[in-house]
Amino acid sequence: MKIYNTLNRQLEEFIPREEGVVRLYTCGPTVYHYAHIGNLRTYIFEDILEKGLRYLGYDVRRVMNITDVGHLTSDADEGEDKMEKGARREGKTVAEIAKFYTDAFFSDCDKLNIRKPDIVEPASNHISTYIEMISKMLEDGYAYLSSGNVYFDISKAKDYYQLSGKNPEDLLVGVRETVEEDTAKRNPGDFGLWFTVSKFSNQEMKWDSPWGVGYPGWHIECSGISGKYLGEYLDIHCGGVDNIFPHHTNEIAQSEAYFGHKWCNYWVHGEHLNDQSGKMSKSNGEFLTVSLLEEKGYDPLAYRYFCLGSHYRKVLTFTYDALDQASQAYQKLKSRIEKLSRTPDLKEGKIDFYQNAFKEAIANDLNTSSMLTLVYDVLKDEELTDFTKLYLIEDFDKVLSLDLTSEKEELDSDLESYILKRIEDRAIAKQNKNFEEADQIREELLEKGIRLIDGREGTTYERL
Ligand code: AMP
Ligand code: ZN
Repeated sequence: MKIYNTLNRQLEEFIPREEGVVRLYTCGPTVYHYAHIGNLRTYIFEDILEKGLRYLGYDVRRVMNITDVGHLTSDADEGEDKMEKGARREGKTVAEIAKFYTDAFFSDCDKLNIRKPDIVEPASNHISTYIEMISKMLEDGYAYLSSGNVYFDISKAKDYYQLSGKNPEDLLVGVRETVEEDTAKRNPGDFGLWFTVSKFSNQEMKWDSPWGVGYPGWHIECSGISGKYLGEYLDIHCGGVDNIFPHHTNEIAQSEAYFGHKWCNYWVHGEHLNDQSGKMSKSNGEFLTVSLLEEKGYDPLAYRYFCLGSHYRKVLTFTYDALDQASQAYQKLKSRIEKLSRTPDLKEGKIDFYQNAFKEAIANDLNTSSMLTLVYDVLKDEELTDFTKLYLIEDFDKVLSLDLTSEKEELDSDLESYILKRIEDRAIAKQNKNFEEADQIREELLEKGIRLIDGREGTTYERL
């Protein structure tokens, strides 16, 4: 398999350390709020990577953390803990917030057919691991204690700038612009491993440590949890591009300082989903969540289809128009598949050919749009029986996870003509600017389990 490695900024042949086994670590969500659909784009890409590797025959061991402490409002050690801020926003405890948004995250993942990683661990469960790592880094001179906090000394790290590919001056300018100079640090780019007094403003989550009561920095969580469950060597580490610096850069620095050798061979990053104004946000503009899309009548899997249409390394811009198009294409595809005959009649002739082509698409730096194209190619191929088509599409869906072959009961023909009539009524109501009636019709159909989808070429519907 060829995969783009951020570490060396090139496509590389993927070779795991242990034959046939992939040790994969993916950074999890900070559970202070709902995930927006941008965050979820990253988890969809990671899900495809995991399932694609499995399709190629690898035994994938995947670990993810849940950040429930230590992620400050600025990634560069500034501000307060995002969890504390979330708890205050909602008048709840940090533990309540963490539980609520962890459940919400996995419920969103379920709706998007994102498989839950084998091991998911909240950061707050592993404090003793971080303390042990930090103690060793202090002993070995990689870390230092200053004004009550423990910092990592980036001047001691080997190739600190390799992953980001930036030069030190650029990064320092960034640090200075966004962060008040922290006089406790030896170098402005040093980062916190353990915070005590100086970052303490009624922090609820805190633990005893050799350096006083406090809490761990964000970066040490991922090094600690991945080391504990996957050992000293990782094959692939993923996240969104915003994690390259400082989070992943700092993970590398501290893990390699602690283990004493190179830690992870492949760093794979997903590009962002932007809205039309640019960066997607949880506080400004429309807060785009899976639930919001559902309220607007979209099937969450239409969003997954939308994401798969573009390459994970390309910026994707979200618009409702683009989602409408994806949604219609997805519904159309599903109904084409639904019409295939299920009479058993498997013809093996071209199965290998298509499965190999699918493997090639995966192995070509996770080319999801080629994977989708293959579904259409199979549907078009007149040499394949319907049953063989279904067999292949079901097989591809192990990776695509779009519920492409799930069967629905036949729709009663009376109900079908009723729906079509109501769609027409609604179009007329809209023409007459009678939007109230149009909305009523939409609601009425929704109650019957029928969701209307407005697109450029008119209104279609789907069954819930
Ligand atoms: P967070 O919950 O903030 O720690 O972020 C969770 C994941 O979402 C991380 O892997 C981020 O890199 C990723 N992420 C953040 N913003 C976006 C975006 N607009 N598009 C895609 N991924 C994002
Ligand atoms: Zn991480």
